[in-house]
Amino acid sequence: MYKNFSLVPKVMFGRGSFAQLGDVLEERRTNSDGFVVFVLDDVFAGSELEKRLPVEDGDMVLYVNVDDEPKTEYTDLLVDKVKQHNTILPDGIVGIGGGSTLDIAKVVSLMLTNPGSSADYQGWDLIKNPAVYHVGIPTLAGTGAEISRTAILTGPEKKLGINSDYTLYDQVILDPELLKGVPKDQWFYTGMDCYIHDVESLKGTFINEFSKAYGEKSIDMCRQIFLEDHPDADDKLMMASYFGGMSIAYSQVGACHALSYGLSYVLGTHHGIGCCMAFDALDEIYPEGVLEFRKMMDRHQIVLPKKVAAPLSQEKLQLMVTTALNLTPLWENCLGPDWRHIMTREKCLELYLRM
Ligand code: NAD
Ligand code: ZN
Repeated sequence: MYKNFSLVPKVMFGRGSFAQLGDVLEERRTNSDGFVVFVLDDVFAGSELEKRLPVEDGDMVLYVNVDDEPKTEYTDLLVDKVKQHNTILPDGIVGIGGGSTLDIAKVVSLMLTNPGSSADYQGWDLIKNPAVYHVGIPTLAGTGAEISRTAILTGPEKKLGINSDYTLYDQVILDPELLKGVPKDQWFYTGMDCYIHDVESLKGTFINEFSKAYGEKSIDMCRQIFLEDHPDADDKLMMASYFGGMSIAYSQVGACHALSYGLSYVLGTHHGIGCCMAFDALDEIYPEGVLEFRKMMDRHQIVLPKKVAAPLSQEKLQLMVTTALNLTPLWENCLGPDWRHIMTREKCLELYLRM
């Protein structure tokens, strides 16, 4: 079966493009009772960026905290807050932040028009009704969340995205100026998420010319960003993230992402750093990629936490292994249809004990 997926229909790119957000929203504002919700990473509370938001009377600035990655419970709470603010549906939702905030804003826009808890929709194409119009504005680059048809959530039973065509942003604004001021470690980890998307897509068995076209360009830009010096590195990173997301849209990620889900579920490890920790243990599967990744780490003097799994109980280690091995398509992409014979529980545990 060939995938037949929607794409983000409207994209604005360029330094300073954030200033046009007001014009973009103007087209969507209905009448004087209408309102827009700005879902803003609380790292920006009181910042210059917040002052530049085109907030009008009746609008809502909804601060979100991403110290922990998005949980279903938390997004349900945020949806209630919007409903308390106004009983009518908003004219638009604007997500401003890194991958976590972008995903939260997607969920809020979906859950305003779909009944129940966000946990009911973790999976593929379970969303029934179109979302409220939503705009995504990344302030960190690498996850590809701005372009993907998923919003990743940790629920009571699983960490799994809400995957649907309705999840996609209606509009994204890619302004490289917004990346200014990201702490260096975070810049590196989220950037490596993109590099790893590219490696896993390009080295996977699902690879095809569509994914290759985007993945090869994205990895080339990652090399320029992380192994060379360029004054427009932030512009490159914005586009590398977008292209990395496009590459996996028609292929899949692999072993590193599967293992990072285990780390995240059991230890709460954040996506970017978790992918880095897992990738560093994957010499056997991605030998060239891991070598190049280590060069990038050296160049930016990044030191990863070590031996995080070793102190865990057998029970927790086994839960990590189960979480990772449940991600069948990722392993199939990485190792082929016979992957269960290669990535046994013992092998998977051994990889965790290397991290
Ligand atoms: P993040 O959004 O979790 O943010 C990391 C930290 O950086 C936070 O403390 C945040 O407040 C801070 N931050 C963000 N922008 C900043 C800025 N401009 N200046 C200073 N600080 C800033 O990080 P991320 O790596 O972008 O996103 C990871 C999340 O993305 C995870 O929740 C993961 O599940 C999700 N993800 C989603 C997709 C998708 O396709 N939907 C893909 C990959 C990852
Ligand atoms: Zn990723």
